[in-house]
Amino acid sequence: MKYDYLIVGSGLFGSVFAYRAKQKNKKCLVIEKRNHIGGNIYCENIEGINVHKYGAHIFHTSNKEVWDFVNSIVEFNRYTNSPIANYKGKLYNLPFNMNTFYQMWGVTTPQQAKEKIEGQKLLAMEAMKKEGIIEPRNLEEQAISLIGTDIYEILIKGYTEKQWGRKCTELPPFIIKRLPVRFIYDNNYFNDKYQGIPIGGYNKLINGLLNDIEVKTDVDFFKNREYWENIAEKIVFTGKIDEFYNYQLGKLEYRTVKFEEEIHNCSNYQGNAVINYTEKEVPYTRIIEHKHFEMFGAEIDNCPKTVISKEYSTEWKDGMEPYYPVNDEKNNALYEKYKELAQKEKNVIFGGRLAEYKYYDMAPIVELALNMDI
Ligand code: FAD
Ligand code: UDP
Repeated sequence: MKYDYLIVGSGLFGSVFAYRAKQKNKKCLVIEKRNHIGGNIYCENIEGINVHKYGAHIFHTSNKEVWDFVNSIVEFNRYTNSPIANYKGKLYNLPFNMNTFYQMWGVTTPQQAKEKIEGQKLLAMEAMKKEGIIEPRNLEEQAISLIGTDIYEILIKGYTEKQWGRKCTELPPFIIKRLPVRFIYDNNYFNDKYQGIPIGGYNKLINGLLNDIEVKTDVDFFKNREYWENIAEKIVFTGKIDEFYNYQLGKLEYRTVKFEEEIHNCSNYQGNAVINYTEKEVPYTRIIEHKHFEMFGAEIDNCPKTVISKEYSTEWKDGMEPYYPVNDEKNNALYEKYKELAQKEKNVIFGGRLAEYKYYDMAPIVELALNMDI
């Protein structure tokens, strides 16, 4: 065998794994089917701006070990995600906090905001009780019982139905639980202790991890499977688990996103990195203005152009990029069956978003790879 590890996929999981394996003097080869490394955190430099080609990525974690590790590869900036919602031309701060409540109802104290929300929740929950419903059964019931009807109708319903292509009454409650609700004036989207973007972009993180490691791009594992299976003692597989098993038990479903990129001849298009369009009539879910992830103050005007991406969320079909696993009962049950097959493998390690069919953020991916036995 020529290598200790063949790593299939150069995303964050494969790259952190390869970095650690090299530290332990293991010989690794990374193969990547795309024409570049980095998986979904890859950026392309356009007009001096790092454009997040597979969707906006903001690193956030409360895990100091993970934060110190990524900062040992590349220093991170102070970017704090504070998206804004645009509903029919009116702007609201996110996540749901005192600024949002002021914009929504004119209330100025936490007490007034709580009374407003409680009043709306009570009405909805009484109606649920009458029907004998105790626990929220779907995203709509969950959202209303968390934050009331106004915010649900204006900031959640349209956005969520566009993003998932399903009615809120048909979606699982847990999706909405990741959004913070705060009774302070704080527009930070995340509750984590650490947050930022690598200074110089995500490619610096990936290049730093894969420095001195043999990498082949434009190589699809499945095009020459037998050859690759015999080149290393072990395989680290970060692609789709159902594809690894030739879809023998059926296909897992995903949501995908289409990015419509535009270059504008102005230095500042929308004044913020992320603006969500929460009404259903606007076909895209959000507009990303990439320069705001890494440029602050005078840097913004000193860069005369700007790049924006409009995001359209659609159902995944063969040939498209599989972005979000659809972790509903049907798909989770199918994944469990594939996992049973995977657990029987002696020389294959399955890791990452596609191989574990799980919506992992970047920090948990790094944590997972840091804790693997190598
Ligand atoms: P990937 O990045 O998907 O890497 C897998 C790699 O394997 C890919 O490069 C793929 O081409 C390659 N591959 C697959 N099959 C084969 C094959 N047969 N042969 C060779 N190569 C193969 N996380 C955050 O923390 N913050 C965010 O703001 C955030 N925003 C996101 C926005 C979007 C739109 C998406 C989709 C994800 C977002 N994430 C975010 C999650 C983040 O992208 C993931 O946590 C991370 O990229 C997962 O890394 P990975 O290595 O598991 O997978
Ligand atoms: N969401 C919403 N309105 C918004 C932003 C988010 O209703 O303006 C909902 C939507 O259902 C989304 C969920 O909250 O799927 C989680 O949002 P997050 O930004 O964490 O989603 P991500 O794009 O990171 O998956």
